[in-house]
Amino acid sequence: MKLVVLSGKGGVGKTLVSVNLTNVLSEFGKIVHLDCDVEEPNSNIFLKREIDFTENVDIQIPYADSSKCTKCGLCSENCQFGAISVFKTGTVVFESLCHGCGVCSYICPEKAIKEKSKTIGNISFGEKDNIIFGEGVLKIGEPSGVKVIRKLKNKYPDSDIIITDAPPGASCSVVETLKGADYALVITESTPFGLHDMKAVLEIALKMNIKTGIVINRYDENYKETENYLRSENIEIISKIPFIKEIAEMYSRGELISNKKEYREIFLEIAEKTGVLKCLNK
Ligand code: SF4
Ligand code: SF4
Repeated sequence: MKLVVLSGKGGVGKTLVSVNLTNVLSEFGKIVHLDCDVEEPNSNIFLKREIDFTENVDIQIPYADSSKCTKCGLCSENCQFGAISVFKTGTVVFESLCHGCGVCSYICPEKAIKEKSKTIGNISFGEKDNIIFGEGVLKIGEPSGVKVIRKLKNKYPDSDIIITDAPPGASCSVVETLKGADYALVITESTPFGLHDMKAVLEIALKMNIKTGIVINRYDENYKETENYLRSENIEIISKIPFIKEIAEMYSRGELISNKKEYREIFLEIAEKTGVLKCLNK
């Protein structure tokens, strides 16, 4: 079972839920935990795995061979990222905008587009006890983490249980993270902003036909709008985690709250209600 933990924005508790869910599940069997939040991966602050190996993630960046280019402009017209322009003096690729999609090379009638390799980030893995941990890192300034996420996910595609920490928001990177998922666990908080951002990410998961449930973190029983909305859309609330000062303090120290008995129950319940515990035959 592949369960992805998502949130419409950062700071609502996505990593809190993903790492503690992994920690609790690892008592029952082997878990792969992937941190696909490639611009700011922080799962390993909590899981504390030694890194066993790291691999670069490269993309192919185009450049125009001036001896073949007729400056017809087709490549520029078809690049949806504005990353290639044709000037009187020649055809120029703006590497910081290029996603390495290959469209310009495909479209060029003169076969004037050549490619060179560029490293945009890396993936790392470490294994200890029952947790195989993996994370992707996108280099600062790179426009897209999709290729990093794809390579990270392809490393252990057939593992029984994969818990994934997705990037925040509703971007292409989130869609890439969700591909192939069996369950989307969306984390939100009891505020109007939380509700607004949750709707955006929920829309993606539901359009991709992925079974979805919600965790309301820092739950405030006086704010009913989130529950009313979810009830009207027939979306299950998996857990309501109240604001507890000790949880915030433990999180800020990089500690797994599920190591304490009273908080472990929260994540056991999430594991049960999402069906992931059952997949471990427990
Ligand atoms: S499509 Fe090819 S020939 Fe046309 S401008 Fe681009 S690189 Fe040059
Ligand atoms: S590889 Fe894609 S993004 Fe990069 S310049 Fe070509 S068409 Fe644009």
